[in-house]
Amino acid sequence: MSKTSTHKFGAEKTAGSLLDGRDFCPFMPVFGPPQVMFERGLGTQLWDTSGKRYLDFLCGIAVTSLGHSNPVVAAAIAHQAGTLLHVSNFFANPVATQTAMMVDKLVSGSFGGSSAGQVFFCNSGAEANEAAIKLARKFGGRGKHVVVSALGSFHGRTLAALAATGQPEKHEPFAPMPEGFRHVVFNDIASLEAALDDSVAAVLLETVQGEGGVVPASIEYLQEVRKICTERGILLMIDEVQTGFARTGKWFGFEHAQIKPDVVMLAKAMGNGMPIGALWATKEVAAVFKPGDHGSTYSGTALATAAARATMQLMIDMDAPKVVAKKGEELATKLRKLKKVVDVRGRGLLLAAELSPELDAKQVAAQLLGKGLVVNGVTAHALRLAPPFTVSSEEIDEAIAIMGELL
Ligand SMILES: *Cc1c(COP(=O)(O)O)cnc(C)c1O
Repeated sequence: MSKTSTHKFGAEKTAGSLLDGRDFCPFMPVFGPPQVMFERGLGTQLWDTSGKRYLDFLCGIAVTSLGHSNPVVAAAIAHQAGTLLHVSNFFANPVATQTAMMVDKLVSGSFGGSSAGQVFFCNSGAEANEAAIKLARKFGGRGKHVVVSALGSFHGRTLAALAATGQPEKHEPFAPMPEGFRHVVFNDIASLEAALDDSVAAVLLETVQGEGGVVPASIEYLQEVRKICTERGILLMIDEVQTGFARTGKWFGFEHAQIKPDVVMLAKAMGNGMPIGALWATKEVAAVFKPGDHGSTYSGTALATAAARATMQLMIDMDAPKVVAKKGEELATKLRKLKKVVDVRGRGLLLAAELSPELDAKQVAAQLLGKGLVVNGVTAHALRLAPPFTVSSEEIDEAIAIMGELL
């Protein structure tokens, strides 16, 4: 047995009377004790329960890309909440229908197509990957069910998505893992080729490994993987959960390599904080799913899709990819000038600042939090920065000043 789970609530100082005398955290200890309790957000700013202001350069891990309490998204949610929330998948609703067409237009449009695919809505990134894995198995057929993914990848916490995740230490406590997953070295074509045989249905990749440390796939690697998958009749499934919806300075990360995936997984920024995810596939691939093969009670609820529709429309109206490319350049340039930042990597506004090796990134992130800047230690020595697309130059300068002071 592991030790008991009555850990203290790290945020109890700011939690005040909320905890009502309770001396242990009400949440299961999967997340570790939360250090700050946030009460309110506006744009790039957050306030904790004691009224202290923070700059949010993490966006709930690349989720609130249009800023906190975005007025257009808030109005769309409020309007839909008073109109229609949910009807089940026995019936259609106009909001989900329009939102599905919008997702398809963005994905298909990004490789020059018009409407080339179909969408399944879910509630999270892990669910989008689960659905993709089922689709790949059905597409491959019996005996051709293996999904090959990369070491260092992250695809979610449900069992199959976890099995696809290339981090063996995350599997270990839950062994045995579901069968049919193989891991290869990221950005290494020879390693991929060695793993391919007739049992492989799909290759599953991120275009930038987000949780793995903000490590971009090289353009040549993505193009070569596409070629190999096409030659061998293997699906190329791209996990755009963290990179999608303009985060990297293109609508989707795969656009940097000008490749056309067969299957795309989406979530995080899709609803600007409203829980929603999506699986996109070409209609030829999607056609292997028959009624009853997959589903979810909450697939395409009017409420979640109303938030996604408003989010996507705002991103289109502001030309989000262009804005992100420009602000990403600005932030990266300013980060590079900081003492103790030895390297800056990533794409667009999904960046990692590699610190000099004597610094512990988790400790630095905690100290920055104390000074009112939210980022996270994504590896032992690197900070992840993912500010909202609406971040101003003044806010970038303020964040850089906080980092400069500490480093
Ligand atoms: C966050 C993430 C997931 C999991 O998404 P959840 O919504 O947490 O289930 C999957 N893939 C990638 C690339 C992610 O960054």
